[in-house]
Amino acid sequence: MSKRAIFWFRRDLRLSDNPALLAAFDEADEVVPLFIMDDEIAKRAGAHRRAYLAASLKALDTSMNGALHVLSGDPVEVLTRLKKKYGATSIHCAFPFAPYGNELDERLKKAGIELTQLGSGYAVAPGRVLKDDGTPYRVYTPFYRAWSAHGWRKPVSAPKDPKWVVPTKADHKLPDWDKSEKVEVQEAGEVAALKRYKDFIKRASDDYGDARNIPGIEGTSRMSPHLRWGEIHPRTMLNVLGQNKGHEVYRKEIAWREFYADVLHNNPHTSRDYYDAKFKKMRYDKPGKKFEAWCEGRTGFPFVDAAMRQLVKEGWMHNRTRMVVASFLVKDLHIEWQHGANFFMKYLIDNDVASNSHGWQWTAGCGTDASPYYRVFNPIEQGRRFDPDGVYIKRYIPELAHLSGDDIHEPWTVIDGLSKGYPEPIVDHAKERLESLARLEEIKAAKPIKPN
Ligand SMILES: Cc1cc2nc3c(=O)[nH]c(=O)nc-3n(C[C@H](O)[C@H](O)[C@H](O)COP(=O)(O)OP(=O)(O)OC[C@H]3O[C@@H](n4cnc5c(N)ncnc54)[C@H](O)[C@@H]3O)c2cc1C
Repeated sequence: MSKRAIFWFRRDLRLSDNPALLAAFDEADEVVPLFIMDDEIAKRAGAHRRAYLAASLKALDTSMNGALHVLSGDPVEVLTRLKKKYGATSIHCAFPFAPYGNELDERLKKAGIELTQLGSGYAVAPGRVLKDDGTPYRVYTPFYRAWSAHGWRKPVSAPKDPKWVVPTKADHKLPDWDKSEKVEVQEAGEVAALKRYKDFIKRASDDYGDARNIPGIEGTSRMSPHLRWGEIHPRTMLNVLGQNKGHEVYRKEIAWREFYADVLHNNPHTSRDYYDAKFKKMRYDKPGKKFEAWCEGRTGFPFVDAAMRQLVKEGWMHNRTRMVVASFLVKDLHIEWQHGANFFMKYLIDNDVASNSHGWQWTAGCGTDASPYYRVFNPIEQGRRFDPDGVYIKRYIPELAHLSGDDIHEPWTVIDGLSKGYPEPIVDHAKERLESLARLEEIKAAKPIKPN
């Protein structure tokens, strides 16, 4: 009888450059490819994320001629049952490196389920880059230097002539959320990821350094959902980057993802809690009507509202505007970053707890790389600078489509600016900026709290 192993796809929905999958084939003649539709995944995800995942699973299944086992339920129960059913000798998967996955691994261990684990979704596994004194980095730039010096392996190929175990109908329950949810998301799957990356390298990567800040154009790669689901490994992406300016900046952005994963690995509490503990003491307002206006893209600040409407419509938002809307929530509305982070996690198809929680904390001023001054983004000036003609704003706010680039950033100052139903600003930015600085002074005066 041929020897069988289970390969558990988690956040690595691809066949190429997947060392853990190769290890499964090294050990067994046939592999049972498995994705577990953990109840938590379905419960926590919004419509966009569900649709993206469904499309990604479909693409993976197609790449193995319909062999993907998709089972719903508790991973402890599913893995136990499947192992017995196929007489599998081992269960292979990658290391998760996120709090939810780590806790699940612990639970499996306690239940007596042994995993053979190899690799991660990072070029350099979190926890590996350390300072000379053996402690982790707390600031990005020196991390980046050490991470670059550490280096990474070359990508590996997909398994050759893989023998998959074909599922029964009952074990092949692919979700159809991509059809039923009626939302539009970018194309998912390994083939789409490789194609998007190739196109980006050809089309936009040389100018990336400047273009990446302009949300009205396709200046970034939109590889984040592919990375989130591991449809491509960052190693594969890094492997084709050269030394020109655009490529160098792009490599640095990939390194931000790796840095935040490293920071979260070393400080697991920061997925929900403050990295700089003194900010816990800050005075915050309770989320109410203003928070609702922020969520719905009705704050009266066009650059903020366009971005929030982009998020709700597409399940994705440009990095420049992620910073602007996050600053607005925390520093203009004085609402704790976790409320915004939760809203992002529900909608984003690239939702990633490390990049999200630390992107929020960086903007809120309580994260890593605290700048020497407390930065409050000006939502009007940011719009003027990065969307001068209002191209981005007009795409998402039809009520402002009649305005010129000069007028669109402060529509309340022109005669017909609010004539199509766009709201007045819900706050006075200059006043709230001072309020935010005053609240900061209060915690600066307070005794520092030791970090966890
Ligand atoms: C408040 C806030 C929340 C965020 N939440 C997430 C999240 O949930 N998931 C997520 O993947 N990114 C998050 N980011 C980071 C960043 O906004 C996105 O990675 C980026 O916009 C994705 O678009 P892209 O693929 O076109 O990026 P590109 O500009 O093409 O960059 C290439 C890749 O580099 C990485 N990257 C780029 N910028 C950052 C960054 N600032 N931090 C970490 N990695 C980065 C991403 O993997 C990205 O796909 C957040 C940033 C902020 C300020």
